[in-house]
Amino acid sequence: MQNPFNDSPLQQLHDKLFEEKGVEVFIKRDDLIHEHVQGNKWRKLKYNLYKARLNKQNTLLTFGGAYSNHIYATAAAAKLFHFKAIGIIRGEEPQIKSDTLLFAASQEMELYYMDREMYRQKDESANIESLRVQIGDFYYIPEGGTNVHALEGVEEIVEELSQPFDYVCTACGTGGTLAGLVAGLRGDKKAIGFSSLKGDDTLTEKVNELVKAYIGVEFTNFCINFDYHFAGYAKVKPDLIEFIKHFKNKFGIQLEPVYTGKMFYGLFDLIQKDYFTKGSRIVALHTGGLQGLSGYAEYFR
Ligand SMILES: *Cc1c(COP(=O)(O)O)cnc(C)c1O
Repeated sequence: MQNPFNDSPLQQLHDKLFEEKGVEVFIKRDDLIHEHVQGNKWRKLKYNLYKARLNKQNTLLTFGGAYSNHIYATAAAAKLFHFKAIGIIRGEEPQIKSDTLLFAASQEMELYYMDREMYRQKDESANIESLRVQIGDFYYIPEGGTNVHALEGVEEIVEELSQPFDYVCTACGTGGTLAGLVAGLRGDKKAIGFSSLKGDDTLTEKVNELVKAYIGVEFTNFCINFDYHFAGYAKVKPDLIEFIKHFKNKFGIQLEPVYTGKMFYGLFDLIQKDYFTKGSRIVALHTGGLQGLSGYAEYFR
């Protein structure tokens, strides 16, 4: 099969703010990897698909919400690589399906709905086993695509960075992407995660556990910032929407409000507040997720 994926170039962003503060900022364009299977969701799927194939599993089963970038990417990747895909969606079947669910169905993902109470316990092994009894055997990919195999794909981002750098930044949900970057850095340089969720910080421990499960040691050269979640997951404020529009006009690069918009807003604010010393070279990861914009169409007309 021909490789359906594009490269993810590293591009420098030029802004008066960066000049004034003496920092250099680069963006790693994982949004360009593929129209549908893009960003960190592809990075996290890559070695899971590989493992599924190796184990001769033809069915993928995963979980997510009605607007999930992971459901969307898994549906498209399954179709592309000829897996059968099952998506278990949080909550009641909606009367009007989101664009994400319509797309997943168009890729022949089978969709089932799980009430929120049960969904909270979905990862318990007894519940996964009971799904096997009901549905038949499958390769299980957790919500958000985050497991130890996900780190192997994310780690490749670090190997691809073709410019010297001091910091690498990513948006954070489950922490899987940050964990992959931390693993890839092997204790060198620094990684910064920007949480899209309000935190009580259980994320740091989660990242440590993932990194340890993957390479056997923990690293301390990372931190997670909880100051730019804009009131919580998927919540937006006019400031954030304005920033995303400004970013598009200035750099010609589209962000979305759930993850990448918040990260770049946070990064610009930290630069403004002299968080980075002069001479710092910062790489910010564009984790994709642009399908999610359709849920915010009214803000971007
Ligand atoms: C899922 C997602 C994230 C969060 O990644 P985690 O590995 O769950 O922390 C960040 N950005 C985008 C665009 C995403 O879709």
